[in-house]
Amino acid sequence: MRKYVIMGVQGSGKGTQAMLLADDLDLVHISVGDIFRWHVQRHTKLGAQVRRVMAAGELVGDDLVESTVRDRLAVHDWNYGFIIDGFPRSRRQAEFFLESYDIDAVLHLDLPDSEVRRRVLARRICSRCGLDYNLIFHRAKVEGRCDVCGGELVSREDDTEEALATRLREYHTKADPILELFRTKEFVVTVDARPDKVTVQQDIRKQLGLPEYRV
Ligand SMILES: [Zn+2]
Repeated sequence: MRKYVIMGVQGSGKGTQAMLLADDLDLVHISVGDIFRWHVQRHTKLGAQVRRVMAAGELVGDDLVESTVRDRLAVHDWNYGFIIDGFPRSRRQAEFFLESYDIDAVLHLDLPDSEVRRRVLARRICSRCGLDYNLIFHRAKVEGRCDVCGGELVSREDDTEEALATRLREYHTKADPILELFRTKEFVVTVDARPDKVTVQQDIRKQLGLPEYRV
């Protein structure tokens, strides 16, 4: 059984890296962001709460994240282990997590703030069907138009310079002390998140002593 935590700022590709690892090792990928998005799309009570916070360019509160993760892990469908993304969010949660679960490693995807800005501000979404685009990684065939439905591509409402600066500040305020704590326990594997996704995945596996990723 393998139990990993993956950490990295928005735009660092941690969702992609978690998925590549999870698919191969039969790990359950627990993404707090995905769980919240599911609720937003289905207009649940939790979804409405999350939507309000995100529209203000802020992060969802620690308690809400913690209860969401607790409920998800309580399902116990992770026979081969899990990789968790978006948790812990505070030192207190990190301490609790270390005591309750025997974590094997914390994968830290390291990306400079300048590169985060470049990647995040290039994101676009189709105003009609909701498909994601990115002016760097996934361009539309016709500029400004969705490949699938022809809808207009727009920035997400929470992808403004200002909202991003707030998120970056909040990320560092929260994540840096958590990484510090994990480092003292010698759990942290730091990976340079700037290269392409396959290179990053190989680096993760090398550092974890896992077999190479086969493309
Ligand atoms: Zn579309």
